Amino acid sequence: MADGVDSRMYDYGAGKSAIRTVYEQTTELRQQGVTDFWDYSIGNPYVSAPPEVNEAIREVLEEYDPIDVHGYPPNNGWLTTRQAVAANLNRRFNAHARASEIAMTGGCAGAITSTIAAVTTAGEDVIVPVPYFAEYRMYIQAWNCRCVEVPTLPETFQLDLDAIERAIVPTTRMVIINTPNNPTGAIYTEESLKKLGELLRRKSKELGQTIYLLSDEPYREVVYDGKQCPWVAQYYENTIVCYSWSKSLSLAGERVGYVWVPSTVRHAGRVYDAILGAQRVVNSICNSLFCRVIERCVDLPAPVEEYARKRALLFDGLTKIGYEVVHPDGAFYLWVRALEPDDDAFQERAANEERLYVVGSDDFAAKGYFRLSYCVSDECIRTSLPAFKRLYDSYGGYQW
Ligand code: PLP
Repeated sequence: MADGVDSRMYDYGAGKSAIRTVYEQTTELRQQGVTDFWDYSIGNPYVSAPPEVNEAIREVLEEYDPIDVHGYPPNNGWLTTRQAVAANLNRRFNAHARASEIAMTGGCAGAITSTIAAVTTAGEDVIVPVPYFAEYRMYIQAWNCRCVEVPTLPETFQLDLDAIERAIVPTTRMVIINTPNNPTGAIYTEESLKKLGELLRRKSKELGQTIYLLSDEPYREVVYDGKQCPWVAQYYENTIVCYSWSKSLSLAGERVGYVWVPSTVRHAGRVYDAILGAQRVVNSICNSLFCRVIERCVDLPAPVEEYARKRALLFDGLTKIGYEVVHPDGAFYLWVRALEPDDDAFQERAANEERLYVVGSDDFAAKGYFRLSYCVSDECIRTSLPAFKRLYDSYGGYQW
């Protein structure tokens, strides 16, 4: 008998991503008091938020009326917070951002899903380069749009512009990119972003409709070796920027981020209002306290040195064993070729034989890789290497 349960929502809830499934397994182990396992599953920053964040929380609690701090903020966040965010973007990227173009959100996820809801119509296509953060699929399909996967270039995982061009059809409404990238750590080159801008401009004209570029940037500041992540919005006028402090300031649980709709976006005001409308529907509104906190912490740097050390420890350790690892320029993930083509089977064997909890590439719409989230303790990395070595030896290295 029909129970009225929406099957798509049921699947999202009961199905879970591989990342969440593995994370729940490790959470259960922790609750049972088990300690001899290594959890490389979720991108939950191990590095603490900078002390200035706690300091700012204390200041806000002291300075503001509790009614204000714990009450509803405006749906787009406090004006002073949005002014601080705009000033930060203008200082760093000469972005010409205005507070009225920014809406504070419950993390990057809220910003992305509201933006998709705001500018797509059911039946339209959203293009995503593979591999990608698996939740995009759900954010897109929830609004009855198609998630169109396109390959990236082999080995470098840079944008494959020909593949994107081939995927653009009259129903294409948006392309989502994420640089620095989860899971590969690739930073898209300035040249490829310029060409992407030219391509989207040309195709929008040809098709007589705006193709938006959603730039998902939660790892923008997590970049290594003195590299910079090019400022995506400068290459294409119809770019909408989604950001959060989940990774850069280790505030993943606080749900604080924003969406910026530059004035160059076609019908920018309408797009902005539609995003606010979607924000009301999904209720992804940043809480009052953290709006105020971010106002004070917007210029703090990300703990790049810490992540650079962890990256070196794990990358060097694994490559010395023989693993084929993509060298990441940013974010805090390693993308590693699996020891067998079936990455699900590899994920299971790593957990069962060595208690190494990794995420198979299937979740990122790719085959034959696994992802390690190295926002873990140095101790975890050091003690896990012998287990990775045993696993490698048990396979006899790469046989495929
Ligand atoms: N986009 C990417 C690429 C991510 O990796 C994540 C989280 O891991 C998000 C968006 C969601 O970020 P938030 O936790 O700020 O919602």
